[in-house]
Amino acid sequence: MIPAEFSYVAPQSVDEAVAALTDAGEDAKVMAGGQSLMPLLRMRLAAPTTLIDLGRIDELRGVREDGDALVIGSMTTYYDVLRNPLIGKHALLISEATRTVADPQIRHRGTLGGGVAHADPAGDLCAPVLALDATLTVVGPSGRRSIEAAEFFVDYFTTALQPDEILTELRIPKHTDWAARYEKFSRIAQDWSIVAVAATVEIDGGVIRQARVALTNMASVPVRARSVEQALIEQPASEDLIRAAAEHAAEGTEPITDGNADAEFRSHLAKVLTRRAVATAAGV
Ligand SMILES: Cc1cc2nc3c(=O)[nH]c(=O)nc-3n(C[C@H](O)[C@H](O)[C@H](O)COP(=O)(O)OP(=O)(O)OC[C@H]3O[C@@H](n4cnc5c(N)ncnc54)[C@H](O)[C@@H]3O)c2cc1C
Repeated sequence: MIPAEFSYVAPQSVDEAVAALTDAGEDAKVMAGGQSLMPLLRMRLAAPTTLIDLGRIDELRGVREDGDALVIGSMTTYYDVLRNPLIGKHALLISEATRTVADPQIRHRGTLGGGVAHADPAGDLCAPVLALDATLTVVGPSGRRSIEAAEFFVDYFTTALQPDEILTELRIPKHTDWAARYEKFSRIAQDWSIVAVAATVEIDGGVIRQARVALTNMASVPVRARSVEQALIEQPASEDLIRAAAEHAAEGTEPITDGNADAEFRSHLAKVLTRRAVATAAGV
């Protein structure tokens, strides 16, 4: 289908983009890589009156260090995330999850910020962002504010972003040299997660000193598996310990039943994938 008619604006700075968004009113939409938005427009599931393309705003791209944090511009593509050595060193979990997103064409256009702002419960970058305790910087007509990842994801496809705000960057506390694994279950290659688990651990002398685990598609928003983390921390990285810890994975989740899997199977997957993700990250 052909999208409904809209005005197109391509600002060159964040300030211009915020002004355009404010001027255009509630029916405007920003576009990042367009990999989720364009299909919605073509199916007429979204019909914004104005489309504000962030693609020409250079300040929204790139990765830099800022003290203990890594700062990733929202318009950094998945392709650039995968090639970035700083992300590989300080936030390996982001690279691991990005590797599983769709196919090379979509990874060349799709952006980290777009994936997070879209807040698809099956999207693969939301759980890693939650696991790493990222802070999201957003800019609107009243200025800049920071939102913790734990507060950012509100419901299905719904975030704490206001309609007149733009996500500009993700600040991720450095998890330098932590091992990581994103374990994803889907029925066909290059598809969204039916369930997935993001795990990153710091191992020292065979002991798991710190652990972060979060689940994709086990509720309307990504969920942190705190009980699993508690069961892992300061314990020897053994197969038996990890298996026992993974049994807690479905606690506090609200998985849906749909055509791909029922809630019971999703809970089972969460445990199996958590065991695999932590064991692979821990190298056991
Ligand atoms: C065939 C196919 C397979 C896919 N498979 C996967 C997969 O396996 N895993 C996965 O995670 N994703 C998958 N995707 C989705 C893909 O990752 C998208 O790129 C991503 O969801 C959105 O990123 P985008 O940059 O394209 O954003 P867009 O499509 O441009 O935008 C998505 C939404 O976010 C909003 N938005 C974007 N950027 C900002 C911003 N900076 N500030 C405020 N709002 C913003 C837009 O207004 C829009 O509502 C797939 C997509 C397709 C078409």
